[in-house]
Amino acid sequence: MSAESLLALDRNHLIHPVAAWRGHEQRGVTVLETGHDGVWLRDNTGHELLDAFAGLWCVNVGYGRDSVVEAAAAQMRKLPYATGYFSFGSEPAIRLAAKLAELAPGTLNHSYLTLGGSEAVDAAIRLIVQYYNATGRPQKKHFIAVERGYHGSSSVGSGLTALPAFHRGFDVPLPNQHYIPSTYPYRNPLGGDDAAIIAESVAALRAKVAEIGADQVAAFFCEPVQGSGGVVVPPKGWLKAMREACRELDILFVADEVITGFGRTGPMFACEAEGVAPDLMTLAKGLTSGYVPMGALMMSDAVYAAIADGTPAGVTVGHGATYSGHPVAAAVALEVIRLYEEEGILANGQAMEPVFAAGLQAMLDHPLVGDVRHRGLLGAIELVSDKAAKRAFDPALGLADRLFRTGYRNGLIFRSFGDHILGFAPALCFGPDHFEQLFARLKRTLDEVLDAA
Ligand code: PMP
Repeated sequence: MSAESLLALDRNHLIHPVAAWRGHEQRGVTVLETGHDGVWLRDNTGHELLDAFAGLWCVNVGYGRDSVVEAAAAQMRKLPYATGYFSFGSEPAIRLAAKLAELAPGTLNHSYLTLGGSEAVDAAIRLIVQYYNATGRPQKKHFIAVERGYHGSSSVGSGLTALPAFHRGFDVPLPNQHYIPSTYPYRNPLGGDDAAIIAESVAALRAKVAEIGADQVAAFFCEPVQGSGGVVVPPKGWLKAMREACRELDILFVADEVITGFGRTGPMFACEAEGVAPDLMTLAKGLTSGYVPMGALMMSDAVYAAIADGTPAGVTVGHGATYSGHPVAAAVALEVIRLYEEEGILANGQAMEPVFAAGLQAMLDHPLVGDVRHRGLLGAIELVSDKAAKRAFDPALGLADRLFRTGYRNGLIFRSFGDHILGFAPALCFGPDHFEQLFARLKRTLDEVLDAA
């Protein structure tokens, strides 16, 4: 089918809510045809693109992995479907849960397998409520998250997502959903150096818990590095301090590692690098590297024991979905994890961190770039119209859309957040030559947009 006909059908029939908000005509929709040779995409006009965003921060092992395709095909032939909703199991789902238990920090030994990250966050909310019911504290129903955080777009989870576009028109955040400020060192709403930022964050959490009532708060949700809020990298030590504070405050600590999991920030999980063992952890994206949909909610022995065995009469654990523990997705996840561990993908991602960091750092010389930040292969540059004043561009300029379109023309895919932050999440199989092309194409893109401004 011709590219024009496909776009016409897309416009008439396929809903892209976020693109529609931005204006279909303004941003346009692009039809991708192939993902190949690890890091390359081709659209249906034959245009080749270097994918510096791993799809939507998920294709960590890269495109064109035949062994992943074979794992899916073999499982489809053998047993294409079994639900984890009731008491059926399937070998891949069981083996995956055991593998995740082996990899995850602390006693996160129990997994509920979902369709993606939003479902994992929703499961966390519902099962935390069950946990407090089962332990005789049903009044603990308030949740605290972090400004600029993203925890999915489901009806309830979107209230923990602290981005206004996800609230508009809905009654979220719900009365039991609250936020504390983001760390955001570049603009630093908290003030002071790293130690001060951490202390202020802990103080903000304590104050929020006191305001709600210590006996009412169920859990604190955070991303080890905030992704969709603009790749906001907290100071090292922040995660551990927040974890410890949750323990003291007697609230559950939930690490949302949907983006940061599976090598994105270096280690298998970002919590690992900071010696943090959460009570619950949400995963998706890199779990299957985007080849098929799947997420996971992991819980500690203590949380699991309370809901598995301690459910008092009259409290049902009603949670599940048709596709929980899908055997094909689980088979894919097992193969993807094998690639991370045994084919050197995780190690390559770690080895490439300095190359990525140096490339980002060099971008600071550009007149448009006010800040660069990264952890592992998760990074961003922040654009400013005045470096000294850290002044953001007037949103009316539509800079982000212009950069995206110009980048696309130059054969580069990245992501923009708001009108001034460009995000990068290259596949963990990126090599030095790919990074060279990424930064050359990015520099050309910024120059062209600057010239036209
Ligand atoms: N949590 C985080 C930290 C995420 O980044 C995302 C997705 N970007 C989600 C949850 C939701 O995941 P999904 O889009 O798979 O529903």
